[in-house]
Amino acid sequence: MRRKLVVGNWKMNGSLQDNEALLVAVADGIGAAAAAGKPACDVAVCAPFPYLAQVRDFQARRAAAALFDIGAQDVSQHENGAFTGDVSAAMLRDFGVRYAIVGHSERRQHQAESDVNVALKVKRALAAGITPIVCVGESLREREAGMTEFIVKRQLSAVIHLNGPCVSEIAVAYEPVWAIGTGQTAMPQQAQAVHAALRAQLGAAIDRADRVRILYGGSMNAANAAELLAQPDIDGGLIGGAALKAPDFLKIIAAAACPKAA
Ligand code: PEP
Repeated sequence: MRRKLVVGNWKMNGSLQDNEALLVAVADGIGAAAAAGKPACDVAVCAPFPYLAQVRDFQARRAAAALFDIGAQDVSQHENGAFTGDVSAAMLRDFGVRYAIVGHSERRQHQAESDVNVALKVKRALAAGITPIVCVGESLREREAGMTEFIVKRQLSAVIHLNGPCVSEIAVAYEPVWAIGTGQTAMPQQAQAVHAALRAQLGAAIDRADRVRILYGGSMNAANAAELLAQPDIDGGLIGGAALKAPDFLKIIAAAACPKAA
């Protein structure tokens, strides 16, 4: 049984002051649930690069904060050198980063990241001991054209091709582009069908595919999380907007820790 993973993607939001308040509220909530003996799941927050040190320092100050891991929102495909603005996997490790989002649709769209760029980033992350969370997902036009499986499999196959059996160490996030930040969520059965297809693709390519966690992302919130997380191949969530509101994020964590039958 895969332990569920809930990851907050803060995107380009936050400030020292706002982050502190959010971290305190999330750590308090997770700590209180643990003290009450409630079931747990894995949790991470992916902060913008300048705030990784703040999250790490917060962790050091607050024992309860050790109940979540630190994540980054990207990683360079290069090891080091003349790549102005890039942040290497080794640098992320220096700040205690355990997860890095890779190939988010916003980067594929605004930074023109290709499947090959994403596959290279996965390689760098894995080499540094960071778990890449590889985002795949189709646009609305692609879904309407019946191309969903073709698109997500193409995106994942580039990662498998370059990284081979190491792919058992990644996490995948299925994020339909039309659902991100729009309030439009995939129906649980729609998402489950894509997750099952991705799991089958992994199973055909590598041993131990069953250990890869496949998260759902796209307007997951406190109200719809339980039903999504009850699907057999949905192993957690990648959460944008709702991760910035501690009560909502904590409700999603609680739903993941104790998924109810759909
Ligand atoms: C995301 O940023 O990965 C995401 C899923 O955002 P939202 O939850 O806001 O749709």
